[in-house]
Amino acid sequence: MAHINLNKKSFFHNLDIIAQVTSAKDKIAVVLKDNAYGHGLVQMASLCQEYGIKKAVVRNQKEAYCVSEFFETILVLAEIPDTPISNVVYTLNDINAIKLFPKNTRVEIKTDSGMHRNGVSLDELEKTFALCKERDLHVEGVFTHHRSADELSSEWFVQEQNFQKIKEKAQEIAKQEGMPTLRFHSQNSAALFRAGECLHDMTRVGIAIYGCLNPDEVIYKGVHVSSLQPVLSLYASKISSRILKAGERIGYGGIYTATEDMQVGNYDVGYADGLLRSGSNNFTSPQGYKILGRISMDNVNLDSAEEEVCIFDDANKYAASCGTIGYEVLTSMREYIKRSIV
Ligand SMILES: *Cc1c(COP(=O)(O)O)cnc(C)c1O
Repeated sequence: MAHINLNKKSFFHNLDIIAQVTSAKDKIAVVLKDNAYGHGLVQMASLCQEYGIKKAVVRNQKEAYCVSEFFETILVLAEIPDTPISNVVYTLNDINAIKLFPKNTRVEIKTDSGMHRNGVSLDELEKTFALCKERDLHVEGVFTHHRSADELSSEWFVQEQNFQKIKEKAQEIAKQEGMPTLRFHSQNSAALFRAGECLHDMTRVGIAIYGCLNPDEVIYKGVHVSSLQPVLSLYASKISSRILKAGERIGYGGIYTATEDMQVGNYDVGYADGLLRSGSNNFTSPQGYKILGRISMDNVNLDSAEEEVCIFDDANKYAASCGTIGYEVLTSMREYIKRSIV
């Protein structure tokens, strides 16, 4: 059966680097949304707990339930709960959604600093606080998200400046209202490494903990991005093997033709398991085996005779052969694939 290995040493190494940049473990909120970027939600949550991480970010209530015992505080990015969980804070993404939250829910206000995807604007901030008060929602923080922190442009600076204005305004409102100190955060992985420090109270680190932040030397000058190590590797087992004779073509459409007699093996992972089909005929495994022809639903052909092969051990490399990003390769990995911590 296809299976996934999660390298604990690499994961802790990545957390060491991140803790060095944020200057404290307590400033790290691990982003575990979407089955921990395909790594396995509970496995990664337990490793985070073992390392001493106290905060996590997830997508929805179901994920929050699964990991609530592992963390002190969890932020849910995009679900309005029927019954809030006590150690979970929920994101308010839109001023019009305030009335939908149960009274006394703990919330953080998502603000729009320039991405224009969701969140309230600076102009709406005062009204948002007032409506939250009316609804008895407990506002505990204010945050934003960067759209271009991983690109060489000035947008990152502009958004950070906008967020600074939002932060000052929110602090002013909180002071007037006698509210407890608010928590502020703006940085994802790219923004953390770009700044080289945690700019606010915490940072929401996703792709970097999994070791797949693209190490662009220009953008992350002087920071150790290139020493992050991928955590996930995908393995598959042989179903059958044969000699493909010179001139024979393999798989659907026969898009690969053997130029000489060659040993080939068929392995038990396919696009139904999340191995993106766009890597067909265009990827070489870490041991140097080539994907031959089209990836099928449940299997893939390689020029290998091994009983078991590592398909990829760096999602970014597989992504490059598919014209996509590591995030998509990782989150495509189906939940039912067995994950083992090694
Ligand atoms: C996914 C996500 C993150 C993490 O982003 P990375 O690039 O993986 O570090 C942070 N904040 C929000 C709001 C997100 O949706």
